[in-house]
Order: sequence, then C-alpha cells, then structure tokens
Amino acid sequence: MAKIISMTDVKKIYAMGEQQVQALRGISFEVEQGEFLSIMGPSGSGKSTCMNMIGCLDRPSSGVVSICGKQTALMSENELSVLRNRTIGFVFQQYHLLPAMTVLENAMLPLRYQKIEKSLRRDMALEALEKVGLSDRIKHFPSELSGGQKQRVAIARATVTKPSIILADEPTGALDSTTGEQVLELFGKINEGGTTIVIVTHDPRIGKATRRCIHIFDGLIKNDEKITPIPFKEAMKR
Ligand code: ADP
Repeated sequence: MAKIISMTDVKKIYAMGEQQVQALRGISFEVEQGEFLSIMGPSGSGKSTCMNMIGCLDRPSSGVVSICGKQTALMSENELSVLRNRTIGFVFQQYHLLPAMTVLENAMLPLRYQKIEKSLRRDMALEALEKVGLSDRIKHFPSELSGGQKQRVAIARATVTKPSIILADEPTGALDSTTGEQVLELFGKINEGGTTIVIVTHDPRIGKATRRCIHIFDGLIKNDEKITPIPFKEAMKR
C-alpha cells in the first residue's frame, strides 16, 4: 500500500526573540491510505505543529515530510496550497464556517479554487451535504444550526473535493458526547470509502476509538500503537 503521509525525523523550532522553542524534536511515522488514526497528547505537546506539517500549512525546520509522495520542504507556497486543496480536507473544533454564506455556499467553497463549472460545484456540494444528512438545511445560515449540524456542514465542506486525507483538529471538542459520537460515526463512514482520517485530539476517548493512536509528548512520539478500537458509542460514554 502507498504511504500517504511520511514523516522522517521531523523537527520544528520556533524562534521567540532570543529564545528557541522546540515544538517537534524528531518525530517519524508513516500512514497508509485508508488508515483511521488519532494523534493524541496534552496541551503544548506539539499536536498542532504536527497537524500543520501534515496539512501542508507549515514546513519542518529539518527532517522530511512527504504527503502523497511529495516532499513539502521542496515546494513553493503556491504548490503547497494546490497540494492542500486537492489532497486534504480540514475539520476544526470551532467549525470555521463563513457566517454570511448559506450551508450550500459553505459546502461549495473549496471547489471555488478548482476549475469546475458552477452547476457541477453545486451538484457536488449537494451530494456531500446529502451524505452528512443535511439536504433539508441547504438554505440555512450557520447561525441557524446546532453545533452538531455545523460540524456536519464542515465535514461536507471537507469532503466535497473528495480528498485523500481528512485532517480533523479536536472535531468533537465543542460537542456533547452524543453529538460527538455521531460526528465520529460519520468519520467512520467516510473512512470506509477509503479516505484516510487523522484526528488530532487531547481526548483519550477518541484515542481508544481509532484503530491506531500516536501519542505525542514534549515534541516526541511516546507511543505508536495499533489497537482494537472500542465502538464510538461506548468510547464517548466513558
Ligand atoms: P499542542 O497543539 O499539542 O497544544 P503546539 O504544537 O501548539 O502544541 O505547541 C508545541 C510547543 O510549541 C508549545 O510549547 C508552544 O508554545 C510552541 N509553539 C507553537 N506554535 C508556536 C509559534 N508560532 N511560535 C512560538 N512557539 C510556538
């Protein structure tokens, strides 16, 4: 199987005036297409930095990050944004929907950067919204939706380009446990279609519900384990 994400001895150093912060101190792992994994760690452990590397939002200070076989350090900003738009769908804790746009317009947004005709963009967004069960809310604005519905719009937006990877940052962090479980079920369904899912979280319940869990601590991988996942419903009750 092809390695969709590959990190080799990745280090990231932030300069803070005279001081340097080592956010990642040499992490290595590989992810195959179709995996469903969580990256877990406490606040400050380097999760967001790691996510930024996978999401082509930042480049490493040293080491090699390769996404779909492409080394991000060798790419221009423009090439990175194309790779990001074509390959990765992002889901955030606070949804990041545009408030002045309808559900349908929000779901169509990532397609704006691809040369696709408007009627086809609309059809693709309608299909993505149907898959998350929101066909009856397409004309609503985000402010008219519940937290769970907003996250489902965000998932439709993330999947509308049919990306190889979904990268989710604390996707259930703002939701109650039942709604969180529904969101995880949805990720499970998307994963069954072959999409790689990476969830970045500090929530150990999610770590127990994914087939692989990488624990980051103090900028290093403490543990990288394949587990028999607990069903989402059970995991979120704990
Ligand atoms: P987490 O997502 O696990 O909370 P981060 O990746 O955000 O951890 O941060 C890891 C470390 O790097 C922390 O010590 C944090 O303060 C530092 N850090 C993160 N981003 C920056 C930045 N842009 N500039 C300076 N230090 C940063």
